[in-house]
Amino acid sequence: MSGFVSLVGGGPGDPELITVGGLARIAEADVIVYDRLANPALLAHARGDAERIYAGKLPDRHTLSQDEINALLVAKAREGKRVVRLKGGDPFVFGRGGEEAEALAAADVPFEVLPGVTSAIAAPAYAGIPVTHRAIASSFAVITAHEHPAKDETSIDWAKLATGVDTLVFLMGVGPLAEVVRRLIDNGRAPDTPAAVIEWGTLPRQRVVPGTLATIAEEVARAEIGPPAVTVVGEVARLRERLSWYDNRPLSGKRVLVTRTRQQASELSGALAAHGAEPVELPTIEITPCGDEREIARAIDLARCHAYGLVVFTSANGVQLFVRHLSNAGLDARAFAGAEIAAIGPGTAESLARHGLRADIVPQRYVAEGLLEALDGRNLRGQRVLLPRAAGARDVLVDGLAQRCATVDELKLYVAAVPSDRNHETLRRLREGEIDIVTFASSSSVRNLVEMLDGDTAPLARTFIAAIGPVTAQAVRDAGLEPAVVAGEHTIEGLVAALVAAQKE
Ligand code: SAH
Repeated sequence: MSGFVSLVGGGPGDPELITVGGLARIAEADVIVYDRLANPALLAHARGDAERIYAGKLPDRHTLSQDEINALLVAKAREGKRVVRLKGGDPFVFGRGGEEAEALAAADVPFEVLPGVTSAIAAPAYAGIPVTHRAIASSFAVITAHEHPAKDETSIDWAKLATGVDTLVFLMGVGPLAEVVRRLIDNGRAPDTPAAVIEWGTLPRQRVVPGTLATIAEEVARAEIGPPAVTVVGEVARLRERLSWYDNRPLSGKRVLVTRTRQQASELSGALAAHGAEPVELPTIEITPCGDEREIARAIDLARCHAYGLVVFTSANGVQLFVRHLSNAGLDARAFAGAEIAAIGPGTAESLARHGLRADIVPQRYVAEGLLEALDGRNLRGQRVLLPRAAGARDVLVDGLAQRCATVDELKLYVAAVPSDRNHETLRRLREGEIDIVTFASSSSVRNLVEMLDGDTAPLARTFIAAIGPVTAQAVRDAGLEPAVVAGEHTIEGLVAALVAAQKE
């Protein structure tokens, strides 16, 4: 079998900007050779057993030389492998993809090119700068320049470029910027021409420095802009004032820690990203099923003969685990026939709905106290109530139900324990002050994170802490910290809304 190489443009940074074809090739690949500027998140789509080779490409340090990369692609293809050469932006825009294609052609290795969204257009777009615009710019050029202008002498005709093209987009480090600006002005471009430099375009950490040809080099130095960055010169750069949409969202530029379980994190991460934040996931909870088998069997038996008048769920995890136990015993939703079902909040109710169960009772306030209030009109005297939930939960519900003369079967189904994999890299980022906001969606996530920090709450004290509700907020206070925001509606949506409102203040 003969191998095959796909030169794939990974897009400028935002992982959503890869092509459908590019993503499919990554998913099928035996070998992926990737660059620094290709978003590593894209590798998550590769097969678990795919070989991943980092080809480096730091501005000053090449992990593999270009010749070594070319030879590697040829060698892997000759082994019969499906090889993806994953590059940042478009492979044929200053990506040396052309050289790689030449090497493959010379070696008779079949290949294809999947173009990508180039940073030359995408970074300006995410900065609110269209590279062309009716009546302002009807041409654009993409240019690279070196630290040593002498190297460009042969290729760049500065005299023609300076005034012959409306929009100039430079892909290069910021080092040569002052020299580039000087050449443009010397060759007739007006010093008051608008310009902008975009660092880490299309990513949550995107920064944009606006200016004019006369000021931009100084502004960029002041802002300490580093690579990767693109520079846009031309009247279109002025449009950003009206068209910026990406880096001025309420949570733009904020790194937000998501402390939910790995399984539950994505909902919150997605909602945060939609408001411009960079979510950083640090699972502080791992759901470990536990429980006394005899107790569980007994509760299932009582459910089977419809002994429960009321079943109270206080978490989606509780729903999932209890339904699994029912199913293991050969039962289904009919075991709940005749029982009323209460859910502590909409998330739990939604989880019930996924199992075909409708919550009869969802309180106004999504806390144990609120649930008891919601039960106030009911006569629970002599009723049997089942409470499947986490070990270590508060006594409020058990006590409250007992006071209402119900017989409560508390079923401890799981422990919200500290994950076995502590994710030291993210903890390091938290310790080093790289996190702006910390979100907590449960009190156990607060306690567990403090434990993961070995009791040292100082890194958390420097952050803006957002809690999903009053119980979680109390756990934050119990840890000696102060929540900056407590969500009014105790749901993930409510948590994000509260955070957004607080940032706008
Ligand atoms: N093939 C790539 C360009 C590779 S050359 C493409 O089509 O985008 C590397 C240069 O691209 C960097 O020096 C920088 O100028 C630019 N670049 C790449 N990704 C960028 C990003 N996310 N934000 C700003 N500039 C970027």
